[in-house]
Amino acid sequence: MMVGMYCRDHHAARQRAEAGGGLCEECSALLDYARARLARCPYEEDKPTCATCSTHCYKPAMREQVRAVMRYAGPRMLREHPVLAVAHLRDGRRKTPSR
Ligand code: SF4
Ligand SMILES: [Zn+2]
Repeated sequence: MMVGMYCRDHHAARQRAEAGGGLCEECSALLDYARARLARCPYEEDKPTCATCSTHCYKPAMREQVRAVMRYAGPRMLREHPVLAVAHLRDGRRKTPSR
């Protein structure tokens, strides 16, 4: 959802040109990457948010991209999707579990 908000507000022209209103190619690749990391996350249901995780498994370039998305979409989530935003803030208070 946050990648969708970021792409909508930054890459509208790309969305129209590349994806007929879906995510642009760059944001689509970022989302695929995040999903692949999530599928391999060792913490399962005890998972913190990736931003607060002490392991942080993203490669640096992807980490920077996802940070930009979070910086932009985080505050807007409170307005557009407050229930999800509060759930995400709660998850962010969880410490990275020891393995
Ligand atoms: S950054 Fe941490 S919480 Fe996020 S997927 Fe990687 S290991 Fe799991
Ligand atoms: Zn985009």
